[in-house]
Amino acid sequence: MNYLDNCATTKPDPEVLNTFNTVNTKYFYNPSSPHGKGIEASKLLESARDQIKSLLGLTHQSVIFTSGATESNNLVITGMARSKKQFGKTIITSKLEHPSVLETVRALEEEGFNIKYVQFNDDATLDLVHFKSILDQDVIMVCLMHVNNVMGAILPIKEIHDIIQEYPKIHFHVDCVQSFGKLPIDAELMDSFVLSGHKFNGLKGQGILVFDQLVTITHTLFGGGQEYGFRSGTVNVASDVSLAKAMRIALNEQDDNFERMKAFKNTLESKVSQYPGIRVNSVKDGAPHVVNISFVGVKGEVIVNSFSKHGIMISTTSACSSKRAKLNETLTALHVPEDAITGSVRISFDKYTTQAHIEAFLKAFELIYEEMKELLKR
Ligand code: PLP
Repeated sequence: MNYLDNCATTKPDPEVLNTFNTVNTKYFYNPSSPHGKGIEASKLLESARDQIKSLLGLTHQSVIFTSGATESNNLVITGMARSKKQFGKTIITSKLEHPSVLETVRALEEEGFNIKYVQFNDDATLDLVHFKSILDQDVIMVCLMHVNNVMGAILPIKEIHDIIQEYPKIHFHVDCVQSFGKLPIDAELMDSFVLSGHKFNGLKGQGILVFDQLVTITHTLFGGGQEYGFRSGTVNVASDVSLAKAMRIALNEQDDNFERMKAFKNTLESKVSQYPGIRVNSVKDGAPHVVNISFVGVKGEVIVNSFSKHGIMISTTSACSSKRAKLNETLTALHVPEDAITGSVRISFDKYTTQAHIEAFLKAFELIYEEMKELLKR
């Protein structure tokens, strides 16, 4: 089997699994318990938090452990919007965002917030002129992603940060799920950001929210007050310690993996683009692990099934939205034509992707192309 759906999730690193098992076996205690073993578990938890702070180069921000990026995005966006509503009601985001951001801002719209969507240029870069034009004194939050999970577009976090300095009440929140372990992240440029362990060979159900501790978030989960009161519920120490491990490994290997994945992306894109009816959607200078192509005129689901029969696991647009009938919002916002959107599939890499996976993909591609070529629009 050739797994090429790493934007959906990655295979856990054995060292991460080992850490998870060891901590769960030796330190299964509740870190909120006052006895000696509870205190040991609590120390372990705090040392994982400190390691994460140092890995991310955090100076003044706090780290909250969560169940993943969906929870982290919901928590910070809802909490910030509600706590800042006396200062303004406008939130800026983009149609490229993951549903955990888009659906959260849509829910806030129902509460009376005003949502503005920044536009993109034809080359998939963020339209900074449009961004500046929608900024005003009513904007309380800008929520954007670093790397897009469908096309691999990279957003200019530094430029956005610099532009909003003129508006001190804006909270800048960034979804770094697809960039961590692939590209450098500069924590100083963001007021808050989120990561998800299972996207960089950690485990599902583990993530963090990093935020500036001077900022007060209205909390949405009531209970025992764990995680500074923002995330009540017994803390999963084994998960949090193994997340720190996954982060350390990902950062250590980042540069090597970048070069390898970039080479795979180049090979794959340059080969398939030679075939009439195939359109490469992914951004040329985008993230190294995301390739998005269209079999123009054929349904993406049909293509994914065909590859699956050849033992190659790829995805239609994004796993989270592939069950929805509507056109993919990212590809629409990036001006991809409609018949290319419906025929689009995503191939995504991680550190376990090898040259053999790429060759297997290309072999299957040729066979599938032969079967489909009469149906393709050229
Ligand atoms: N943000 C982005 C960009 C993603 O790709 C994903 C997962 O696909 C998420 C957020 C949600 O992450 P999680 O699965 O940890 O909730």
